[in-house]
Amino acid sequence: MPDYQQIRQELEGIAVEDNPALVKQKSRDFYWYSPILKAQLDNVTADLIVSPKTEEEVIRTLKVAYAHGVPVTPRGGGTGNYGQAMPLSGGIVLNLLNMNRIKEIHPGRVIAEPGIITAELDRQTKAHSGQELRFHPSTTGTATLAGFIAGGSGGVGSITWGGLRDLGNILRLRVVTMEAEPRVLELSAWDLQKVSHAYGTNGIITEVEMPLAPAYDWVDVVIGYDDYMDAVRFADALTHRNGILLKEVAPISAPIPYEYFTRHKPWLKEGQSVVVLMVAPHSMAPLVAYAEKMKGDIRFRSDKVESMKGIPHAYELAWNHTTLRALKVDPGITYLQVQYPGPDHVEKVGKLVKIFGDEVISHLEFIKFDGAIQCSGLPLVRYTTEERLEEIIKIHEDNGCPIFNPHRYTLEEGGMKQTDTVQLAFKKETDPKGLLNPGKMIAWDNPDFDFKSGKNYLFPGLQSFM
Ligand code: FAD
Repeated sequence: MPDYQQIRQELEGIAVEDNPALVKQKSRDFYWYSPILKAQLDNVTADLIVSPKTEEEVIRTLKVAYAHGVPVTPRGGGTGNYGQAMPLSGGIVLNLLNMNRIKEIHPGRVIAEPGIITAELDRQTKAHSGQELRFHPSTTGTATLAGFIAGGSGGVGSITWGGLRDLGNILRLRVVTMEAEPRVLELSAWDLQKVSHAYGTNGIITEVEMPLAPAYDWVDVVIGYDDYMDAVRFADALTHRNGILLKEVAPISAPIPYEYFTRHKPWLKEGQSVVVLMVAPHSMAPLVAYAEKMKGDIRFRSDKVESMKGIPHAYELAWNHTTLRALKVDPGITYLQVQYPGPDHVEKVGKLVKIFGDEVISHLEFIKFDGAIQCSGLPLVRYTTEERLEEIIKIHEDNGCPIFNPHRYTLEEGGMKQTDTVQLAFKKETDPKGLLNPGKMIAWDNPDFDFKSGKNYLFPGLQSFM
């Protein structure tokens, strides 16, 4: 057992918390979305929370932790869904929320500390020069910039810009290694893939440079359809109208909207499916014209309501907020993450909707994927047993729709991030004792891990870039 009294002394001058209730609170994320992870991770807790304010304090903390052989799990807003920020082996949770300054804003890019909340970053860049992040997670009000990079994949804006996996959507990262004498690495271009969506297993991000896009007062729009597949076809067709500037396109099947979007209920029609949109103000006239042509029933426009007080933003109906709203009403719900590879993505959705009926309720997110429009999905699942969930996953995969399994806490089983020999070599170099977020990378714990499983990964292995 490490001598935490001694460690505290060595960390003198850096904020440290050891109150067990507060430590436990900061040792969890949104793992409970999954009934499987809930059972596995409920008792996970750290021993100390350390909250550095500067890169120098990060370096000091890692040096002390390394000397004592204590695990360190970085944490931003703690909004990850797969226990990414949960310290499986105890030790220190490194809370980065106090490193939250913007350092520089330039045309098209921003340099910031890791713990800035992404909505706050957007607020400051918009006020400074009418710019905002190209895309943000729907948790933008509580998620941090580095937490998004290390734990997320894409989100609101991905319809135009793609995701974090795409070259150019992160510009540069400063990363501190976990060694006797921690080093500071500057990563750019292909090297960024080592750290993006790696759950903080190979370095602590202390500075981020991100590209920016022009900011707009995006208009929230909800369009109803009696038939869900009409909603999907409309969304697909709309995303191919090149002139209409969109930030969010999410078809969501009945009964989700009427049953779970309680604040929007006055505008919704029971039994209708919807397409949730964010549209640039100057694109509203063409959007309305196109929706009318496609027989859409415009139920809600944020530019036509008297006040948005108490009404969530459109993005808080989409991405994993759809799941959150359902869970608030029906705790028996869980979800999956599905990819519907194009160009026949609409047909694939139709087929799976027919197969599952009300057991798996469709929710899609349209995104630009390798230059083409496709959809991914976060369907709600009426959960019965783990075996049935596995069957549902298999049926999707048998129908050509890969699943990124949100009921697994390891990088490899989650399926978004491929670890390979290059990734593993980088971890050996940056974290030789395996102290950073232990337990999250199977390839580290199991030297016989099969890198060539043939699985499809959202963030492909590094060898593919060499
Ligand atoms: P945390 O949960 O604190 O951490 C995430 C991972 O990053 C952890 O592994 C942690 O160890 C690591 N990490 C944190 N800081 C650092 C650092 N400085 N250096 C190295 N590693 C670090 N995700 C999306 O991609 N898109 C969405 O639209 C989206 N919507 C969501 C909606 C809901 C309701 C919920 C609950 C989750 C959603 N998520 C989404 C998942 C999550 O909110 C995002 O990925 C978010 O950006 C994570 O940021 P965070 O600061 O909360 O990170």
